[in-house]
Amino acid sequence: MIFQPDLLKGQVAFITGGGTGLGFAMATAMARCGADVAIASRKPKNLDPAAELLGRHGTRVLAVPANVREPDSVRAAVDRTVNELGRIDILVNNAAGNFYAPSGELSANGWRAVVETDLYGTFFCSQAVHPVMAKQGGGRIISISMTLHYQGWPQMAHATAAKAGVDALTKTLALEWSKDKITVNVIAPGPIPTEGASKAFAVGGVAIEEALSRHIPLGTLGTPEDIANMAVYLAGPGGSWITGAIFVVDGGSSLAKAF
Ligand code: NAP
Repeated sequence: MIFQPDLLKGQVAFITGGGTGLGFAMATAMARCGADVAIASRKPKNLDPAAELLGRHGTRVLAVPANVREPDSVRAAVDRTVNELGRIDILVNNAAGNFYAPSGELSANGWRAVVETDLYGTFFCSQAVHPVMAKQGGGRIISISMTLHYQGWPQMAHATAAKAGVDALTKTLALEWSKDKITVNVIAPGPIPTEGASKAFAVGGVAIEEALSRHIPLGTLGTPEDIANMAVYLAGPGGSWITGAIFVVDGGSSLAKAF
């Protein structure tokens, strides 16, 4: 571990999509740094085994069902976290979903599902934790975006539009909530072979590693820990004077033409 084990001691992190992929890696890294962790998503099959593993780091863990598309569900999950863990210092907006679809054929429901999860979910969760953090005297909001909207990503109109919205929302919330000492930042990951990403990139029978690593200047795919390290940095003392910023963690891949 590259951080001190007590870096986040006494803090509570609320991580959407924290049972799988990058969310689980961020939850693990924060628990290893002493934070109590609430992981929130829709499916117990994603939450329960993850909570069991997270509990082994010795901090308190809460698996809380939530659908980030629904403000009432988000508020209930935030309330339960505050009731059971006492506070929320760190919000990680990580939940997302996507699928390839030619824009001319993308259904209204498909568009809504992705934009509501990635963009509306980020807003609803940020809005729900804002009064909690403001009352506590501050907090850290970290949203997970992407880099592929910088150049465009064919057949991903919904996801690219939503993540561009997340980037813009971040700057606005950073300005509005600076008075409450809440920092709001984005991490923009490059390609990381999580189960979710492997499904999204599984086109043309080409393995994700081969399809992606050839476009990465540093020559290898990233790992979930690469993203988790940036999240812990932003959540810890090093992040105290950083807000409204977008941190690209991608092995240089956004500098190269990927698609
Ligand atoms: P993942 O494992 O599929 O994670 C997605 C998570 O979101 C799941 O835990 C899922 O849990 C949760 N989720 C989906 N819809 C939800 C909803 N309506 N309400 C609550 N939770 C919901 O994928 P990942 O690769 O770790 O991606 C994590 C984040 O990184 C995403 O924001 C993604 O856009 C971003 N990202 C990933 C990559 C990459 O290469 N891996 C690159 C750039 C950006 P449930 O199904 O249980 O709800």
